[in-house]
Amino acid sequence: MLRQIFHSTAASGLLVAGAQADTIEHWRLFVADHTDPVVRAIDLDGTEAGRFETGMFSALSRSTSGRSIFAVQGDAGKVQVISSGVTFEDHGDHADLTVTDPELLPLQIEMAKPAHFVENRGMIALFDDGTGEVALFSETQVLDDTFDPQIIATGAAHHGLAAPFGGHVVYSLAAPAEGAPRPGLQVATLDGSPVGEMVPCPGVHGQARSGGDYAFGCTDGVVIAAAQRSGPPVLTHYPTGHMGEGNVSTLKGGTAMQFFLGNYGPQAVVIFEPGAEEPFRKVDLPTRRVDFALDPARPANAYILTEDGQLHLLDVVAGEIAQSVQLTAAYSMDGHWRDPRPRLAMAGNHIAVTDPLVGLIRLVSTDTLEEERTIEVEGVPYGIVAVGGSGASH
Ligand code: ZN
Ligand code: ZN
Repeated sequence: MLRQIFHSTAASGLLVAGAQADTIEHWRLFVADHTDPVVRAIDLDGTEAGRFETGMFSALSRSTSGRSIFAVQGDAGKVQVISSGVTFEDHGDHADLTVTDPELLPLQIEMAKPAHFVENRGMIALFDDGTGEVALFSETQVLDDTFDPQIIATGAAHHGLAAPFGGHVVYSLAAPAEGAPRPGLQVATLDGSPVGEMVPCPGVHGQARSGGDYAFGCTDGVVIAAAQRSGPPVLTHYPTGHMGEGNVSTLKGGTAMQFFLGNYGPQAVVIFEPGAEEPFRKVDLPTRRVDFALDPARPANAYILTEDGQLHLLDVVAGEIAQSVQLTAAYSMDGHWRDPRPRLAMAGNHIAVTDPLVGLIRLVSTDTLEEERTIEVEGVPYGIVAVGGSGASH
């Protein structure tokens, strides 16, 4: 049985216990066009809440609080930030929800080639592939216009990642020679001093957080960085062993239970539960995988879209596909990795799925896995993130 994590997740819908308060629920989608330099904010009822010009097409990440959306534009050398307009304020036994217009902040974060965005408890690490440097900053700095990042050098430029852990940071190291894989992960203090030896994680790519710990994908397994009460995180390598061709290079982390879901080869996913007797459970898919998401509101549920256009419900406790429905036309995984294909985001009781070739967002009920309705979007809707939840209004 998966271990429960107890915490409040404003972003995934708080229980409202406040007296004399109305409960309101609001979800807002941010959708990046595949080709055009534009991000659209679309409320779940279909209303366009904002449209923002960016330098080029963006890869979108949302903060844990849901207050900011980061539009990472690697080849344009910048990151722009949209304040989502969806804000939760902690009132002790409940949270208040305020919804205002989203806004493109004046801040432009300039980097040589920004790529991976990782947040841990309000601290953000943006990795600059062009320099091998990490910019560390708080979300508050971004929203209050007091941006003053701490820069940590990791060595040579590479497609890397970093994860903040309070007074420490974990980052990837560049390959020692051209053509060699990235060798692994290093823990350092915030002034950039390495702590201990490099922990091998060949080809390190992909990271996710669950229960305060981070998992990183390697070509031969997964490394867990476990947060400690004090001091640096402790890193442990879990070899995937004999699961056939493939490795983990993309991960999502469970919110109410501690587990990770990763890719494994083109046609499988793997449920990873550090510390379990069988830490890896591979789940084969009928065709190749397009995208997948975990459901913060229904912790045992993951949703996987495959190239035949089917959406699958994966029961992560049972480790089995529980239901499959036809959702989109086929989207072949042949061709370029960045060809327009659907992407998934969780919005409360809905899975929001972009369907780029027909210009739609499909809203699928997590109760039934049936499509409830669609939202028409101009252009080629591609990357998508959702923020929102329910809160008090009084
Ligand atoms: Zn209140
Ligand atoms: Zn990457």
